[in-house]
Amino acid sequence: MGKLDISMACAIFGGTFDPVHLGHIKIAVDLAEHLGVTPIALMPCGKPTHRLPPVATPLQRLDMLQLSISGNPNLTIDDTEIGSTTPNFTINSLDRIRSRIGSEAAIFLCIGSDTLNHIDSWYKWTELTNYCHIVAISRPGSPKKYSPQLTEWISSHRSIDLRKLKESPAGCVYQCELSMLNISSTKIRQKIKQNETLQQLLPKKVVNYIQTNNLYK
Ligand code: ATP
Repeated sequence: MGKLDISMACAIFGGTFDPVHLGHIKIAVDLAEHLGVTPIALMPCGKPTHRLPPVATPLQRLDMLQLSISGNPNLTIDDTEIGSTTPNFTINSLDRIRSRIGSEAAIFLCIGSDTLNHIDSWYKWTELTNYCHIVAISRPGSPKKYSPQLTEWISSHRSIDLRKLKESPAGCVYQCELSMLNISSTKIRQKIKQNETLQQLLPKKVVNYIQTNNLYK
């Protein structure tokens, strides 16, 4: 087997992005630098399995994502889940990505620590690391809340050696602390309902899009 070309590593940052906000963009940009992987692919889900349906349509969420990454070569969008009419299971998306990029390149599935807290409710969650490494980023206001089974699983998959991670395709949980903005889409939707200012929460073009389309009122 030839030496792995670690430049082929692929990083996915999934979410509902209802709407995408500056917290998402900052963390995606910082992840690209921290992991040394570009581009980071923002992957909006179509039909989320763990929460209420999004307020904005798939097309609107995609438009806002496109506006938010414009001019940033380190970010891209993976739009395959958002086109789906059936509920999205991350493991199926990872399987598809793995088939596309081959068996050797590392895949990083990047999630906030709030998402790691309940990853044990995901479909076939213990098999996720057969396809990827999980990168969990600490999120403000979201303390660790792991079930005993998840605690055990994290500690048996934990790695702190990023270089080694990049040389293997999958299998580990890597936790990192990157500075995050204390912003959430829920807070933004509430602010819009109450006609509060959105300054410093969203990219300007996304604010304009929301206003033009009268979203989240
Ligand atoms: P909501 O409030 O509707 O749940 P959200 O702001 O958490 O939305 P999501 O689209 O659900 O956004 O999140 C996508 C991913 O981004 C998740 O892994 C989440 O942990 C992460 N994330 C959300 N907000 C931030 C933030 N401010 N900084 C870094 N990561 C974030």
